[in-house]
Order: sequence, then C-alpha cells, then structure tokens
Amino acid sequence: MLCEGVTWLDDWFAVEEVAPGVIAIGEPRFHQTNWNYLILGQRRALMFDTGPGVRDISEAVRKLTTLPVTALPSHMHFDHTGGLAGFGNIALPDLPVIRDCMKDGWLMPTDDLYVGYWEGMSWTPVKPAQWLPIGSEIDLGGRSLTLLHTPGHSPDSISLHDRGNGLLFAADFVYPGKLYAQIANSDLKSYLDAAQALLPQVPQGTTILSAHGKPNAQHLHRAPRLARMDIADLASSLERLKASGQMPSSWPVNDRMSLLLSDAAFLSWQRAG
Ligand SMILES: [Zn+2]
Repeated sequence: MLCEGVTWLDDWFAVEEVAPGVIAIGEPRFHQTNWNYLILGQRRALMFDTGPGVRDISEAVRKLTTLPVTALPSHMHFDHTGGLAGFGNIALPDLPVIRDCMKDGWLMPTDDLYVGYWEGMSWTPVKPAQWLPIGSEIDLGGRSLTLLHTPGHSPDSISLHDRGNGLLFAADFVYPGKLYAQIANSDLKSYLDAAQALLPQVPQGTTILSAHGKPNAQHLHRAPRLARMDIADLASSLERLKASGQMPSSWPVNDRMSLLLSDAAFLSWQRAG
C-alpha cells in the first residue's frame, strides 16, 4: 500500500521523511487520504494539520519527536482539525474569520467552516494559546516558516513557506486531484488572487507539499508533491474561466488537478462586474 521510503508507524499512520526534518504523517486508509506535516526545528516542532481525528495523531507525534510541539491547522475543515484537541499548545492564524469563532476563550468554528456534518464528525472545543499574524515568521530554531493567507478553497486557508529549505506547505490550496471549490465559502476571486500573490514569492524549484494525496498507478501511497508550475497553471486556468463567462461544475487545471465548482463560488466575480 506504501511507496518505497514510506513506512507504517502503526496500523493507521504512515510516515515519510519528505525533506530533512520534515516528517509527513499520512492516513492512507482514510478516504480523503490526508497528509499532515511534522516540521522540526532545533528548539521546537510544528504540527501542520491534525487529520480527521479517526485516530489520535498526537500519540503518533510523541513517537516521532521529543521537542515541544505546537499544532497549527491549515483551516478549520474537520479533516484538518480532528486531532487538534490532543495538543496542549495550539496556534491559530490571526484572521477575522477565525477570531469570529471564539466564544469565551474557546474556538467554536461555524458549521460552514468545520463541515463535520459531511461525515457525522463533531467538534471538540479547544483553547488557542497563540494567534499568529499573516506574514509572520514562525521560528522553530534553525528553520523559519512564513505564514501566508491562501484563501479560495476556504476563507481561512493558510500555507507555510519554508523558504530556506525550498518547501511550501500548501494544504488544500493545491493538491493532486479534484480541488474543492464547490463547498460552502469557496470563492474563485480569492483563489485567483491568492495564486497570483503566491507566484512571485515562490521560487522555481520549490517543492509543494499538499494535504491530500492519491495512490499511484500501482495503488501505492506517498506524500503528495507538486511544483510552482501547478500554482501558475491554477492561476491561468482561473483567468481563462473568468474570461469565459461560463459557470461549469468542473474545470480543468492541468493533468494533475481540476476544480470542482458551484454557483456560489462565482458570486464575488459577478459582484466585481
Ligand atoms: Zn479543506
């Protein structure tokens, strides 16, 4: 079930060291095939996404590092926040859409941000310890990550740029397969603006690590990788879609990705005239 270089940590989590000090923790038995990233510095570690919570990913993380770990979700969707409550130190991006989810110090995302109702998942309230401004540098000791706002798939989506190591953790902004822009709060104007803003910041040769993978032709799993070209293709395909004036339910990006669309995703383009 796993490609060479990927190993089982137990009967649920698969691990792959995708770059020095970056351990992808995959859930290939989950139908969304989530990949979460444990990013290690010299002083501390960051857990970017926590999976759907079918199993406790914090236990897996404790087998992989003794460093203090901060958990940071890429966005509020249930398959990225399911294991959040297992972590004692939770950071959130300082975005109004997430601040609005705070009730008496507890994070309580709206149904449309969490979408747990898709699969009968229920939210476990958590208390964030830190709010990280967009554009801020997360210093792990010998490794610095820039927090970027990359909405489109959802308004609260972020990516992390490890410029020093040529890595972009893009979560659900781009991944191989059908990109979800047909869901509540998806927005194509944000998607295109974010792709265009990202391009000048991401050098050629950057490895893009995504949050959902697909098995290869031999049905084997590994952490999903894309390239800068995929963001360029996303931007140009969205420009073509906008220019076409059409509102299809799907739209091709390239031979690795396509977009799933709903009428609501076009609203901000229509309003912009
Ligand atoms: Zn998502």
